[in-house]
Amino acid sequence: MQKIRLGRTGMIVSQLGFGGIPIQRDTEDEAIAVVRRCLELGINYIDTANGYTTSEERIGKAVAGKREKVIIATKTGGRTREEVEKHLDLSLKRLQTGYIDLYQFHGVNNDKHYNAIVEPDGLLSFVEKAKKAGKIRHIGITSHQIDMAKRAVASDLFETIMFPFNFVTDEAATELIPLARQHDVGFIVMKPLAGGMLDNARIAFKYLFQFPDVVPIPGIEKVHEIEEIVGILENSPLMTAADKAEMTRMRNELGKEFCHRCDYCQPCTAEIPISTVMTSPSFAKRLPEERFYTDMIAKAMEAAGKCVDCGKCEERCPYKLPIRQVLKDRIEWYDNKKKEYFARKGIS
Ligand code: SF4
Ligand code: SF4
Repeated sequence: MQKIRLGRTGMIVSQLGFGGIPIQRDTEDEAIAVVRRCLELGINYIDTANGYTTSEERIGKAVAGKREKVIIATKTGGRTREEVEKHLDLSLKRLQTGYIDLYQFHGVNNDKHYNAIVEPDGLLSFVEKAKKAGKIRHIGITSHQIDMAKRAVASDLFETIMFPFNFVTDEAATELIPLARQHDVGFIVMKPLAGGMLDNARIAFKYLFQFPDVVPIPGIEKVHEIEEIVGILENSPLMTAADKAEMTRMRNELGKEFCHRCDYCQPCTAEIPISTVMTSPSFAKRLPEERFYTDMIAKAMEAAGKCVDCGKCEERCPYKLPIRQVLKDRIEWYDNKKKEYFARKGIS
């Protein structure tokens, strides 16, 4: 597989990376087999995070004995020094390694969290010390919010940026990717399949392969999924006129209800995490079932039931989505799925 330079990190990584969220749903043996198959196919960039439950530990087992051949990127969602320190120690232990190639601040979407990182003696200075101590080789940041991502790139404080990018959520193409090139910041693509909303992997990856200096990291649960994507890259990566027509058709079809997770609709009067509820079907495809029905999504759905119908979110949504109706539809869909899950598990 072709390799590219990941911005100023100077690391040479495969043109396609591995996203470690969905292996949480596998058995441990399946998860290890998936990671090893990726390595066999020439993928050397492995992404995970402290927050992905079993993912780091499974990756650690899969790459044991091959550590030097693999570039491991993980993340901390810690917002205090104590949390970041705890997460870093845990990541090193779970990944069975003495160093992390790329350590990223995870999901930095607002000023409060960003400032806690960059302020004097803040989280970044702590992570820089860990870098000097040899526990970390490079430092990056991830965000879903375009203005925040641009600020992080322009600051020159981070060596990589990870941001959602696909042919439906394509706002990165016009400004963020050119800005990252200008600052020599490595660009990692999260949500190349829009979190599972794009079911045509061939078109989705052909679109992304038009940007030769970005690294998509599709979340992979099964061996056949990564084999399919590598096949697209190796056999017919160029977009044809028919592909472009299909892409336009899919864009139009999804446009009516597709939430880009930009969070411009916030703040919600009833403190509902609107984008989480709107995109809950994609979480259903990625999270282990027990987490989907008991954890963050369960709380988000409960909050959605408290919508006061003020309509302010719809005024702010740049895509003019019918948010209130979609929230109602998602609650109904979730309740039905949850009933079926509880019945299947014998939970009353
Ligand atoms: S309409 Fe509902 S979801 Fe939208 S801002 Fe008001 S309370 Fe929040
Ligand atoms: S509902 Fe609209 S404004 Fe809110 S996150 Fe989704 S696309 Fe953005």
